[in-house]
Amino acid sequence: MRTALTDALTQLPDALQSVVSDWINDANFGASFTPEQVAQMESASGLSGAALRLALLPLAAAYAVTPISQFNVGAIVRDESGTLYLGANIEFTGVQLGQTVHAEQCAISHAWTKGAKRLTDITINYSPCGHCRQFMNELNGAESLSIQLPQCDAKDLHTYLPEPFGPADLGIESRLLTDESNQLSTDDIDIPLLKAAADAANRSHAPYSGNYSGAAVETSDGEFFSGMYAENAAFNPSLPPLQVALIAVNMAGYHWTDIRSVALAEMASSTVSHLADTQATLDAIDPDIPLVYSTR
Ligand SMILES: [Zn+2]
Repeated sequence: MRTALTDALTQLPDALQSVVSDWINDANFGASFTPEQVAQMESASGLSGAALRLALLPLAAAYAVTPISQFNVGAIVRDESGTLYLGANIEFTGVQLGQTVHAEQCAISHAWTKGAKRLTDITINYSPCGHCRQFMNELNGAESLSIQLPQCDAKDLHTYLPEPFGPADLGIESRLLTDESNQLSTDDIDIPLLKAAADAANRSHAPYSGNYSGAAVETSDGEFFSGMYAENAAFNPSLPPLQVALIAVNMAGYHWTDIRSVALAEMASSTVSHLADTQATLDAIDPDIPLVYSTR
C-alpha cells in the first residue's frame, strides 16, 4: 500500500479506520467503495451521506501526484448506484501545465472508466476551479450535479457556474458518461494493447472534433488500463486519452515506473491529433516507454 494512503488512514475517525484499513490494505483495492461498503462505513462511524464522504477525502487526496505544486486535492464522486470513486490531482514534471489532471477530472474519469453512467454528486476538499466547473458542465446530469465542500452547504453545479456555456450551445446532444459507441470496427487489430486503445476510442466523447480516440497502458505485470478521450464544449478543459488511462493506472495503485508500454488510437480524418502531446508526456515520464500508434 502507498505510504500516503497509510498516512491518510490516520486522519480518518477511529471508527472508520478500523473498517477501511482491511480494504485499502488489499492489493486489489481500486480506490472505490461499493454501496455495501458505504453502508458498512456509515454503520460503523455514525457518519452518513455527505459527512461520510467529507471524512473520506484524505484517502482521495492520498492519490495525488504533485511534483510541481505539492498541493494535494482530493475528490470523491458518487454515481446513481451509490458507488464512490476517489480521485486526485496529477502533475507531470517536464511537460506544459495544460497536461495537468485536476482532482475532479480524475474522480469523474475514474468513475467513467469503471462504467458509471451518471453522477449525482462530487465532494472536494477545495472549491472547484473554473476549468473543472466547465469540465463538469459536459456531464450527463450536469444540471443536477451537487457539489459538496467542507464547511459549506451542498450547491448545484450551476450555482458555481451561472449562465453556463455547454454542449447545447454548439448543437450537441451527447454528454460525457453517456453510453457512446462510435461505430469503429476494431476486429482487424491484432496487437492486444492497440485493440484496447481502439476499443476505448469507440467509447470516447469527441462530438466537437470527431477525433474518437483512446489510449491503453500496459503495466509491468501485464495489466491493461484504458482511457477514453473526454472532449469539452469549451475545448481547453478536454481531457486527452493518455491522461484518462494514466488516471486508471494511478487509481489502481500503480506508479509511472510500472508502465511497460502505451498505445494510442485516433481518427486519421480528424482536424486534431493527440500524437505529439502523448509523445511529449510519455517522454517526460520515461523516454524508453514504447508507444504504439494507429489511426482508423
Ligand atoms: Zn480544477
